[in-house]
Amino acid sequence: MGGTSVKLHEYQSKQIFAHYGIPIPKGKVASTAEEARQIASELGKRVVVKSQVLVGGRGKAGGVKVANNPDEAEQVAQKILGMNIKGLTVRKVLVDEAADIQQEIYLGVVINRAARRVTMMASAAGGMEIEEVARTAPEKIIKVLIDPFIGLCDYQARQIAFALGLKGDQIRDFGVIASGLYKAFGDCDASLAEINPLVITGEGKLLAVDGKIVTDDNASFRHPDLTAVRDVDEETSSEAEARKFGLSYIQLDGQIGCMVNGAGLAMTTMDIVKLFGGSPANFLDIGGGASADKVAAALRIILADANVKAVLFNIFGGITRCDEVAKGIVSALEQVPTQAPMVIRLVGTNEEEGRAILAGATLRVQTASTLVEAAQKAVAAAKGEEYVPPPPPPPVVYKPRRHSVVRPAAKKTARPAAKKSVKKAAKPIKKATRKLVKKAR
Ligand code: GDP
Ligand code: MN
Repeated sequence: MGGTSVKLHEYQSKQIFAHYGIPIPKGKVASTAEEARQIASELGKRVVVKSQVLVGGRGKAGGVKVANNPDEAEQVAQKILGMNIKGLTVRKVLVDEAADIQQEIYLGVVINRAARRVTMMASAAGGMEIEEVARTAPEKIIKVLIDPFIGLCDYQARQIAFALGLKGDQIRDFGVIASGLYKAFGDCDASLAEINPLVITGEGKLLAVDGKIVTDDNASFRHPDLTAVRDVDEETSSEAEARKFGLSYIQLDGQIGCMVNGAGLAMTTMDIVKLFGGSPANFLDIGGGASADKVAAALRIILADANVKAVLFNIFGGITRCDEVAKGIVSALEQVPTQAPMVIRLVGTNEEEGRAILAGATLRVQTASTLVEAAQKAVAAAKGEEYVPPPPPPPVVYKPRRHSVVRPAAKKTARPAAKKSVKKAAKPIKKATRKLVKKAR
């Protein structure tokens, strides 16, 4: 259940790549500056010190630095360790032998849902994020669809190599790298395997300088080894807590916290919040048959997000019982007192019992009977506004059909009158145009 993923660190991804015959630089991981110095002196060459955090764009953020000697490596590591990159604290650095980079190439394997094929993508404009290339110069991206029964063919790898402008031995070496990457992707049940950049060195050799593997959580049971390396430190505490309670939670950047049962209903709820001008703070599916404990955990997670200005509960009780949900809400609010307004829509199994529990707890909650009403209330609450019910629709007036063959007299007189007034109005205009025409002559 859920569409979560396990991201592997650069050093972990590159170790896997190496296992598949992809050339990577020599290097080791350090968690202190002193260790970084040690590794640099072992390597005995210019090194690159790289922050190991699970985000892209570390280079731009100052998390990748070249050091000429062990002392420099120590200084640079000192700076990078503890650095905050896109909300994540750097706890480890990879100290790699520095590469002499002539060109940066992008090479990635992804799932192309539209084509229902695994796709290999490459671009001679590597180094920068591929999304950027896709936006600014999509023609620079080479794509090859891979038949799952045949796998990546040699001719396909050569086709990519030629398109990248590779020469001589590079073409053969690229074939090894491409097939290794494809194999690694499949064996890891990955949703992404990427080398960015794959560099051409001063000696004309290919080298995977960066690596990224994202695996599909649905296949975690097949990869206890990969699951074990999951870096819990790297997850936001909310995501870690959600996973512990079996909740599907994805943090977004809006103001309305949403607690919903069922992924489809959760998406619908987010859409409707958007429709009424709000913006969801998260996707959260508490799942079927959620217990009070689970609901309490979910609410704690939602309220831990400082952006949340209002919480919208949209619970459709089927297997999930509304009274259990209500108990969870009450107990969570005892644990985490909050000023955030709450809007609750509880319908289905045991809804009366659920409402009674909420009413008995004298909570500052608004209830709603439809999703539209609930969303409107939540949007208003998040803006600190009073909910104004929409005006009732205009009454539908029943007009009995006339059965008489005689047309109503009023219509007959109305028509010529209208014509007359149009003619009258047109008179001065006609006069004016005639004058103009005369003048022109
Ligand atoms: P990202 O920014 O998180 O994708 O991190 P990368 O590992 O891709 O590094 C970012 C950039 O740093 C690369 O595109 C290179 O330009 C540069 N870089 C990385 N490793 C080396 C290296 O060994 N030598 C040199 N000269 N530059 C490097
Ligand atoms: Mn990169």
